[in-house]
Amino acid sequence: MKIQKIEPFVLVNKLDSPFYFSQWEYDTRKICIVRVLLEDGTYGWGEGYGPAGVVKAGIEFFAPFILGKNALETESVWQEMYLRSMDYARSGSFTAALSAIDIALWDAKGKLLNQPVSVLLGGVKNPVIEPYATGLYFERVPDLKNKLVEEAKMYKAEGFKSVKMKVGLGIDEDLEYISAIREAIGCNMKLMIDSNHAYDYKEAVDLARKAEKYNIGWFEEPVSPEDYKGYKRLRENTTIPIAGGECEYYKHGFKRLLDNDSVDIIQPDIAAAGGITEVKRIATLASVYHKNLVPHSWGTWIAISAAVHLVANLDKNPGRMYDEKPTMELDRTENALRDDVTAHQIQMEKGQLFVPSAPGLGVDVNEDELNRYLIAETKEEYV
Ligand SMILES: [Mg+2]
Repeated sequence: MKIQKIEPFVLVNKLDSPFYFSQWEYDTRKICIVRVLLEDGTYGWGEGYGPAGVVKAGIEFFAPFILGKNALETESVWQEMYLRSMDYARSGSFTAALSAIDIALWDAKGKLLNQPVSVLLGGVKNPVIEPYATGLYFERVPDLKNKLVEEAKMYKAEGFKSVKMKVGLGIDEDLEYISAIREAIGCNMKLMIDSNHAYDYKEAVDLARKAEKYNIGWFEEPVSPEDYKGYKRLRENTTIPIAGGECEYYKHGFKRLLDNDSVDIIQPDIAAAGGITEVKRIATLASVYHKNLVPHSWGTWIAISAAVHLVANLDKNPGRMYDEKPTMELDRTENALRDDVTAHQIQMEKGQLFVPSAPGLGVDVNEDELNRYLIAETKEEYV
């Protein structure tokens, strides 16, 4: 079944409530999604994570090399894109473009074969997922601590079993918010912290040691993603598990992270690290190193659904009769591009996601809404 057309779309939406974290402020969401059309009219949707205009350029670069190829041969198409780009794009946004096309092909393949992607990956080993709520970003409000506390309580009321908060404003301020949120949600809800590589090793170990008493599920991106040894030293000097990997690409990037014994949990983004095809390989690599994989996810229901199907297929590590449900990131921040443009088949109840059985990813795109947010690009922003 030949690939006939590849159409990237850049969607833009100005946020009602701008927010910030340790690195910069968001006032806009901008996302590149892609539709891959096959010769019989079947189509699949994909999404790339990162600067949308660059992802779009990458998709346009790959398109002529894969038009006419058999959409069912997802690995063959993947390899063609990988080899066409490896001389000058062994990581970064071109990998996100490759990921977007790969996700779309898996969606189309599922529709063609009338099977969900999770079954095509080898089976649904985890029919129920307990995602963690991502939120608790900073906003320019008079009482930031109260805003964070109320938001954390809301996730608990919605049934989430775990929540991740941002840190990276300085050790004292971080600890003030960690303490307030832990008190607000009680001791039975997991709480993770994410500094988005705001700290150097000494600062990170200082925060980690002082935060240990708040029972932190993991400390995400404590130091620069380039500082593999800083990651390792931190792991050896705190009881808090260390997570990272949203800035890594392909199996080779994750091998560096794992070879350096940098993390307890790896966090590939399926819409960036190489698509469903490559993240399945990365999951195998992680299992060889006896590390858990918890996908990073930040975008529309296309990217979220890709993560759901991948997690559904993950091996239990270690296996046991009474296991915790696997988890993944579920961004709860304002995102009209996610909520208006895309729809999904995932049942959500009391903090649990039930893996959908609809063909492909089980996502739909509302074309009227897509056209509404399809705005001519004015400037490139990382959103
Ligand atoms: Mg993160």
